[in-house]
Amino acid sequence: MAGQRYLDFNATAPPRPEVIEAVADAMREGGNASSVHGTGRLARGGVEQARHSVAALVGADPANVVFTGSGTEANNQALRASGRKRLIVTAIEHESVLQARPDAVICPILSCGTVDLEALERLLMASDEPALVAVMAANNETGILQPVRDVARLAHEHGALLHCDAVQAAGKIPVDVGPLGADFIALSAHKIGGPQGVGALICRNRQSIERFVHGGGQEGGLRAGTENVPGIVGFGVAATSALDGLDDFAALAGLRDILERRAREIEPAITVFGGDLPRLPNTSKFSTPGLSSEVQVMGLDLAGTAISAGSACSAGRVEMPYVLAAMGVPEDIALSAVRVSLGWTSTMADIDAFLDGWAALRARHLARAANPAT
Ligand code: PLP
Repeated sequence: MAGQRYLDFNATAPPRPEVIEAVADAMREGGNASSVHGTGRLARGGVEQARHSVAALVGADPANVVFTGSGTEANNQALRASGRKRLIVTAIEHESVLQARPDAVICPILSCGTVDLEALERLLMASDEPALVAVMAANNETGILQPVRDVARLAHEHGALLHCDAVQAAGKIPVDVGPLGADFIALSAHKIGGPQGVGALICRNRQSIERFVHGGGQEGGLRAGTENVPGIVGFGVAATSALDGLDDFAALAGLRDILERRAREIEPAITVFGGDLPRLPNTSKFSTPGLSSEVQVMGLDLAGTAISAGSACSAGRVEMPYVLAAMGVPEDIALSAVRVSLGWTSTMADIDAFLDGWAALRARHLARAANPAT
């Protein structure tokens, strides 16, 4: 990726070589998966094989996989087409959940970064109107895992449906729709080495969701639009590779922990978010006193390593990152946080390069603070 050391897998993962090949093959073969002729049937075969592979990634019945144009679209469909008028979403959901239904009630988060189950129960009991609850499996910024099974139990006890955004979790940790208890699950191909612009909505019961994109009868009538055959084929290949690679992905926690330990040796005052909680093995979100997120991201970029800040800059003003705000993190700490997210290409040399660049930045910052005239 641009010749950089790429430590931003939670933003998008590099496409896997086998995915690139499969996508190119599918493009060469062409065909509309709805056509009845041989070329169309070949395309349909690719889509159906991918449906099985994506279903296998999360232990679902292939018949319950609806391919969408992105994880964002899958989240939108779950929130806008479940027929539920009352929505409860956690404060740290991805924008594609938070913005899908602006009338949704926000469920608070505990300071440790997990959903406040007592508050959720109070919200569920506040009305007899059946609700849809949305809770993500793993947060994209901190990697902190949410207690989805507990949320599912609570939601179902109160007659609610549960939507789980598993875009960051699936393919990184085991996700199994059965025990998870969610009624809908959103997935995205590009977070697991598949192509961008393709996702899936997994439904426990297809009757509980309506179409969201209207037009033709594709995807069993649940998502109109000519199927993105190369994208879907690539998603299927990525899903199989991710499933096969779950143990290797789990081992990334070792590299991530070395990174955090050595960063703390360099700067003992760093704050690691979710450091003592179950979290994605590849994700580290930490804050460095006095060193802004932007300075770190830009400085590391110049030094050849890609990481992310997680805070948006709008109209020249850096905004408080809402995930950390929901956890009650003070502004100065939140605005000096960065996210490092590893993946299957990550090596010890990447960690060394990150730490060298980061330590040099910090040293320059300390030197300037000691002598502002320079
Ligand atoms: N949900 C989460 C947790 C994400 O991290 C993202 C992407 O960053 C999405 C949903 C959106 O997925 P897509 O990029 O496929 O629209």
